[in-house]
Amino acid sequence: PEAITVQELANRMAEKGADLVKALFKLGMMVTVNQTIDQDTAELLVEEFGHNIQRVSASDIDIDTSADVDPEGSLKPRAPVVTIMGHVDHGKTSLLDALRGTDVVRGEAGGITQHIGAYQIKTKGGDLITFLDTPGHEAFTEMRARGAHVTDIVILVVAADDGIMPQTIEAINHTKAAGVPMIVAITKVDKHEANAQRIRERLLEHEVVVEAMSGEVQDVEVSAKTGAGLDELIEKILLQAEVMELQANPDRAAEATVIEAKLDKGKGPLASVLVTRGTLKVGDILVVGTHSGRVRAMLDDKGRQVKAAPPSLPVEVLGLGGVPMAGDTLTVVDSEARAREVAAYRQEKATAKRTAQAPASLENMFSALA
Ligand code: GDP
Ligand code: MG
Repeated sequence: PEAITVQELANRMAEKGADLVKALFKLGMMVTVNQTIDQDTAELLVEEFGHNIQRVSASDIDIDTSADVDPEGSLKPRAPVVTIMGHVDHGKTSLLDALRGTDVVRGEAGGITQHIGAYQIKTKGGDLITFLDTPGHEAFTEMRARGAHVTDIVILVVAADDGIMPQTIEAINHTKAAGVPMIVAITKVDKHEANAQRIRERLLEHEVVVEAMSGEVQDVEVSAKTGAGLDELIEKILLQAEVMELQANPDRAAEATVIEAKLDKGKGPLASVLVTRGTLKVGDILVVGTHSGRVRAMLDDKGRQVKAAPPSLPVEVLGLGGVPMAGDTLTVVDSEARAREVAAYRQEKATAKRTAQAPASLENMFSALA
């Protein structure tokens, strides 16, 4: 039987936590709202307050939309989500900046940049591409470990004046393990020491066979410094995306994945999220990780207010009740009561897990009695 905190039980019964504590006191139990009580005690309380007893299982409370597949006809094309990986100093950040610079919208807007963990560009041809801005390999693997599969395509950056380095190999392994297609970007080709062909040959040793070596993996020579090859890289991303037929249903309650989150002194909890399906709108009620909230405002990577965020658009969301974790799923629900219920349930579960892991100590025992 599952234990429940007094507060959570109060939430579910729509009663005040303090009233439950009083009732428990009359039953001879001294507990605070944050303490857990066993199921029998919970049932006693429920009866005391004249509610019907309903043993609910986890699946009745928590949200699980994994079985909820969007019908074929509802699917529309969406922008690919791209992650850049590679060895330190091989030029990941420079390439991300150079690609950001090709955004035709940013050109018009005057180039104001907001770092929200991801950005989207509009190409000269009008296509959209989303780039994850933060990840090193840890972010990529951690997100995947938490069940978040946001990356559609990996760009493996290898500096033409260096070679295959430990983190290059790590990136190759992560990408293969994830089953995500890879495009090799051989960077810094403007340098005198650059030798792109040697990189292609060295990649063979790691079973990355690029097109120029009669393989399947697209490769492109680029320079973040001169801008050479950027258009070609963009073309290759779009080609890869086309093959993958990336689609999502934009006309449903939104789901999104947290890319990064923080507490801002002025604005409160902020989460950068990537919409995976549906359209996230200002005013939407949501659950994200163990928190509930309501979208108060959304900002894009150009610092513009966004009223509605479609699939693959990264936005910073204001209005959360707490700071979620990278990889958490954001789900829009239809009422605040529902949002609170799910968040409380997940908090309870998280606390129970922590408590189970915490070693028994005198201190713990005393605080349990307090
Ligand atoms: P990261 O650690 O992979 O993010 O690498 P950075 O983007 O910080 O780049 C490391 C260094 O390489 C910096 O000094 C960059 O200026 C330089 N760099 C990056 N890309 C290029 C390039 O295409 N050409 C040249 N010449 N230098 C580059
Ligand atoms: Mg960097």
